[in-house]
Amino acid sequence: MHDDAKSWAPNSWEARAEANTFYGFTDLPSVEQRGTVVLTHGKGPYVYDVHGREYLDSNSGLWNMVAGFDHPELAAAAKAQYDRFPGYHSFFGRMSDQTVMLSEKLIQVSPFSRGRVFYTNSGSEANDTLVKMLWFLGASEGQPQKRKIITRINGYHGVTIVSASMTGKPYNSVFGLPLDGFLHLTCPHYWREGRDGESEAQFTARLAQELEDMIAREGADTIAAFVAEPVMGAGGVIPPSKGYFQAIQPILKKHGIPLVADEVITGFGRTGEMWGSEAYDFVPDAIISSKALTAGYFPMGAVILGPDLSDRMQAAAEAIEEFPHGFTASGHPVGCAIALKAIDLVENGLLDQVRALIPQFEAGLNHLAQMDNIGEARGKGLMGALEAVNDKATKTPFDSDLSVSERIANTCTDHGLICRPLGQAIVLCPAFVMTPAEMDQMFGRLEAALKQVFPEVG
Ligand SMILES: *Cc1c(COP(=O)(O)O)cnc(C)c1O
Repeated sequence: MHDDAKSWAPNSWEARAEANTFYGFTDLPSVEQRGTVVLTHGKGPYVYDVHGREYLDSNSGLWNMVAGFDHPELAAAAKAQYDRFPGYHSFFGRMSDQTVMLSEKLIQVSPFSRGRVFYTNSGSEANDTLVKMLWFLGASEGQPQKRKIITRINGYHGVTIVSASMTGKPYNSVFGLPLDGFLHLTCPHYWREGRDGESEAQFTARLAQELEDMIAREGADTIAAFVAEPVMGAGGVIPPSKGYFQAIQPILKKHGIPLVADEVITGFGRTGEMWGSEAYDFVPDAIISSKALTAGYFPMGAVILGPDLSDRMQAAAEAIEEFPHGFTASGHPVGCAIALKAIDLVENGLLDQVRALIPQFEAGLNHLAQMDNIGEARGKGLMGALEAVNDKATKTPFDSDLSVSERIANTCTDHGLICRPLGQAIVLCPAFVMTPAEMDQMFGRLEAALKQVFPEVG
């Protein structure tokens, strides 16, 4: 397309964005056609673009801005810490007081009686850190072959080399990933993966057997961990089948394989409990955290080790006098100060707000699931998805050339609603601060878009 055919002018924000920025996870033909939405600020769950247009963001940014886009207490915590001590590292036996306090707080709110926290700048780095910890531990405990990591197809764990290898998405093949030794089990999505005539309990049992078979085939002593999101997020909001973790955990325990919960999305209230693992009634051996950890106000991730891994890691590190790993900004004092405030907000109000909103959220999803072209409404707490189908009875998807979920998302944008297409599903993940009236508006705008798009593609 020639520049003069575009609807935006040279030197406009749209043109400048495209000219100098290399986009990730962005459908480039859509940008070419529609232009980039360049945003200037936000208010509650709304964001505003350079033309003054308002959008209700039904995805809390990227699952993370749970306290909205203008929370005064989070901004004040950041400002106060920038004024007091704007940055420091956590190497060589030094760290900020904020870092000390955040680690105490994280262990206190974790499901663990005790443990230790290691800080990163992102969820991807937290997963890479976890794997380096496990490889370090294996080597130190005389089991250097204990390196394989089991995750699930559709699981999302990040984009760095190791976390992308853990991620079970076909797009990573363009990078020649996954690395060897990263194994993927069936996605626990009963609606899509269940076989004809198979009950949900039988489906769960089949997946547990698949894990047993994989461990037998690979050798338990070669497997360092099983890592799972309590509810898959970027895989399309997929809650586990009934009894999944109760079936999986005893198998892992029997073989001495740690169960790690990637709670980057589910942590800090998203499911209606503090942790997704709590919502599904299991205690993991370690937790991966990021996103809502700072309510999205600072890039930060954390590996939270439970008692057993914490003790073993400490012993392994003492044996060679250090754990040779860490990021310049690990445990950044401003990030820690913000996280302390974010956790305080969740504990003292936001978690209650989530719980109060869940019935309305579920009712909204279930109402839209009545439509002929919605095959499944699914979710947990304030994360949900609507799966578009061409034929509801047979669960047949739309022809992928129709890009149906992208069309829905683009139509929503035109109606002042940001939502996210994932496969043929539309994902909703509202901020915890959304009011009931704003949630009505979210579902109203989405319904209008669905009613416009389905007749066009049906
Ligand atoms: C977003 C996400 C990650 C990666 O976090 P980044 O900060 O983007 O690196 C890892 N795991 C899960 C479950 C996520 O949703």
